[in-house]
Amino acid sequence: MSQAAEQKHVAVLGGGPAGLMAAWELVEAGYRVTILDRDSKVGGMCATLKFAGKHGDYRFDYGGHRFITKNPELLKFVDELMAEDLLYAERKSVIRFKGRIYQYPLAIGDLLKNAPFSLLFGAAVDLVMLPFKKRPQNRRDSSFAEWIESRFGKTLYRNFFEGYTGKLWGISPAKLSADWASQRISLLDLKDVARRLLPQKKDTPRTYARKYRYPKLGFGHLYTRLGEELEKKGVDIRLNSNVVDMQTTENRISSIGFSENDGEVQQLDADYVISTIPLSDMCRMTDFDSGLEFRSLRFFNMPMETENISDNTWQYLSDPEILGTRLQEPRRRSPYMAPEGRTSVMVEIPCDKGDEVWSMHGDQLRERVLDDLETLGVDRKLSTGEYFTAFTEHAYPLMDIDYQDKREKAITHLCKFDNLVMSGRQGSFRYIFTDTAMEMGQMAARSIIEGTDRRREIFDYRNENTVIEVQSVA
Ligand SMILES: Cc1cc2nc3c(=O)[nH]c(=O)nc-3n(C[C@H](O)[C@H](O)[C@H](O)COP(=O)(O)OP(=O)(O)OC[C@H]3O[C@@H](n4cnc5c(N)ncnc54)[C@H](O)[C@@H]3O)c2cc1C
Repeated sequence: MSQAAEQKHVAVLGGGPAGLMAAWELVEAGYRVTILDRDSKVGGMCATLKFAGKHGDYRFDYGGHRFITKNPELLKFVDELMAEDLLYAERKSVIRFKGRIYQYPLAIGDLLKNAPFSLLFGAAVDLVMLPFKKRPQNRRDSSFAEWIESRFGKTLYRNFFEGYTGKLWGISPAKLSADWASQRISLLDLKDVARRLLPQKKDTPRTYARKYRYPKLGFGHLYTRLGEELEKKGVDIRLNSNVVDMQTTENRISSIGFSENDGEVQQLDADYVISTIPLSDMCRMTDFDSGLEFRSLRFFNMPMETENISDNTWQYLSDPEILGTRLQEPRRRSPYMAPEGRTSVMVEIPCDKGDEVWSMHGDQLRERVLDDLETLGVDRKLSTGEYFTAFTEHAYPLMDIDYQDKREKAITHLCKFDNLVMSGRQGSFRYIFTDTAMEMGQMAARSIIEGTDRRREIFDYRNENTVIEVQSVA
């Protein structure tokens, strides 16, 4: 440990995966580290909530998470940290649409068996016609709707993308950036769908990782363990500490204003700041209006009297009239997520902070969700009568059609503060997964340790057009 490192103090804003990994690297290199997080626990959106029900304890993630990475070092880190508390789970997902159930990803036998003739015929005609249609080549200037329709055809777009996407984002797919397609959809176009519907050769790369790692007691277990280890190493983790403002000079963050347990604003001085809190909030606290917005989620979590609802990890709910976008059963990830002989369900419901869904009374939401579950074939009488809801305000960076320009201006503004490194999903305003957030945290710390400005690299890290499932090492 170098003398210089020992004397330097780094403030890490946010104790999610990115912030915790940044702290790990820094403390290992001999820095003094203080983490500020407004929540009462570490883990950010990867935390797990415990619910004491009448039949025992249930655990719910903020939307079920799974750990996959193509970084062998990170994988080793997680394996060693969690040891025997890490399980290997298998993903099985379906798409629910208009009363039908489709395997996800699509499979030929299943599609022929379940899709109506009109859909199969429409998709086949689209496939023949697509080469003759004009395709937007530049994703940056295209909308999600244009991009997908020009690659998948009208039929698949209308059936599998339009309603789901509009519900998830709360805006028309015509106003959503085509970047969302590249981030989320591993199928490249309709020809690709067709290819994948054919029997696969043995050595064909797997498109979707089916197996993944999952901590026994919920995804958040990984981060509470990491937090404990950090505290043992001397990191000061200050929970319930909401960062509210920044004191700045022309090119430095000189002090951070935060309120602990809603008390008076205190100041924290540090040599460097790694911030994983929303990019838009950091801009606001440094007097710049970025215009960037996030889409929120409300989670409806409910214990059930029965042992199993289905064998699916995820059920994607495509019908626009159904409130939620995904239905999950936490015990599909780990049997420890519900008491023995019982299960639970979680419905992810997209919303905007303060809108009707966000503000709806829990009992009213429960009625609405139970109606939807009945439509999906889950008997409402199976509910134990207990439930709770949870929120994430910054679930998805809203990739509207001009978000790239707004993001670019925000980055330029914040990069003028020499001692500030932005990192993580909210901090970089990128739709990234946990492993990338952890890697970004490491990069932020290493840039301080090595004294090199890697901020642009962090903002663009793993910005390739393939989703994580491809070539993952689950
Ligand atoms: C529904 C859903 C499902 C997902 N599923 C998966 C999955 O299966 N696999 C996967 O790898 N990834 C998944 N993700 C993505 C994953 O959650 C993120 O990549 C990861 O949480 C990003 O970590 P982070 O540290 O960058 O940000 P976060 O986890 O968001 O942490 C940011 C932290 O900053 C704190 N903070 C914010 N503002 C302030 C403030 N003003 N003051 C103090 N603290 C503040 C927050 O409390 C939070 O703890 C999913 C995300 C969602 C929404």
